[in-house]
Amino acid sequence: MKIILLGAPGSGKGTLAKKITRDFGFPQISTGDLFRAIVKEDSALAREVKSIMESGALVPDELTIEIVKNRISQKDCENGFILDGFPRTVNQAKALEKITDIDSAILVDLDFETIIDRLSSRLTCPACGEIYNSHNYDSEICQKCSATLIQRDDDKPETIKNRLEVYEKNTSPLINFYSDRLFKVSSANSAEETYRSVKTFLEKFGE
Ligand code: ADP
Ligand code: ZN
Repeated sequence: MKIILLGAPGSGKGTLAKKITRDFGFPQISTGDLFRAIVKEDSALAREVKSIMESGALVPDELTIEIVKNRISQKDCENGFILDGFPRTVNQAKALEKITDIDSAILVDLDFETIIDRLSSRLTCPACGEIYNSHNYDSEICQKCSATLIQRDDDKPETIKNRLEVYEKNTSPLINFYSDRLFKVSSANSAEETYRSVKTFLEKFGE
């Protein structure tokens, strides 16, 4: 099954994607993670992507589309995948249509006030990508791989505001674009609860 996750930054797409991967096996393809890997390299491109991400703006469509195209042509994506953070513009969605057929778009829905609160308290494992929240996780060490957790540069207040504006303007029109295959889920409650309704939906879909 080919799934895309829609929703504002901090709405819980990454956490949801990991649970789907765990139970259904489709690989999670997070463009944010792909870009964070690029940023670790020592190159002109790395420096460019780093400064874009730190401002909360979007990486240019052309590069983003190229990276996703390469990634989903790999063998592990043969039977399906979950795109987390892509597409983020109508232009990207149109390009994706030309590459493959998406079965379903899951909209992870959360109000901006809660998002700002969750992002400002989000801790990320730089090694394995696991996500924690300082409100309910009282340690600086990743439970999965023991690396020291960090606050992402773009989870700082100034950047959060900008990312939400970029979402409103560029990404929210995708809700309309995918209206014929949209499944909407609220992530206002626990991550487990959000996942439960998505799981039921995916199981029905697969029948
Ligand atoms: P979040 O969903 O929490 O905002 P991501 O990890 O998905 O974070 O993305 C972090 C940053 O990576 C974005 O703010 C943007 O600069 C860049 N990025 C990720 N995906 C895309 C995309 N599809 N198009 C353009 N830029 C992207
Ligand atoms: Zn870890």
